[in-house]
Amino acid sequence: MPVGYLTIDDAPTRYTKKKLDYLISKKISAILFCPGELIKKKMNIVVYTIKKGFIIGNHSYNHPYFSKISIKDAKWQIEETDKLIEEAYKKAKAKRKVKLFRFPFGDKGNGDFEEVKPKNKHAREIQKILKKLGYKNIDINLLKPLKHNKKDRDVIWTFDCLEYELPIDKVFKRIDDSPRLKAKEAIILIHDFSTPKVFRQIIEKLISKGIKFKLPKFR
Ligand SMILES: [Zn+2]
Repeated sequence: MPVGYLTIDDAPTRYTKKKLDYLISKKISAILFCPGELIKKKMNIVVYTIKKGFIIGNHSYNHPYFSKISIKDAKWQIEETDKLIEEAYKKAKAKRKVKLFRFPFGDKGNGDFEEVKPKNKHAREIQKILKKLGYKNIDINLLKPLKHNKKDRDVIWTFDCLEYELPIDKVFKRIDDSPRLKAKEAIILIHDFSTPKVFRQIIEKLISKGIKFKLPKFR
């Protein structure tokens, strides 16, 4: 039975609460990767999310391509959002058990995207910043076939629902066909700007494929 780790990017939005309440009704947990500027705007939703037992991850401050910004800016993007997440956990009176980061657009700083090792100095420097701040990765033996360094301190995805650019029937077809979802484990990405209706349809489809949603282990 495939296990799915659900990750929701670009949260929170005006849809977040509805989606969380749906997930709670299905006993599904998730990691929400939030840009700092959205946390600032909707701090109360972030606090609600934490109180309901979901994990808040760092998704930079305002969603830049990390290959296009300086190391100084990258550090600021990560740290500024880290502080806002700390503040949210304090407000929720909850312990922040793990620090997780996801690069906007999957750009680790190399100038190419998704599942690529940090192969240049710029990208390696950014990994050092994450490591120093105590960021962790999902325990990702499952990612062996992918070009991803297990030592990296950012969380990639193995299946992007692409619900933001495809009609729902095409999304369903990809879910039916993808070998990534037939693997033992999958890190599934969906975006928070998608409507609650589309979100629910996709989760139901994934459940119908036998995917069991869990929270991953971290390393
Ligand atoms: Zn994003």
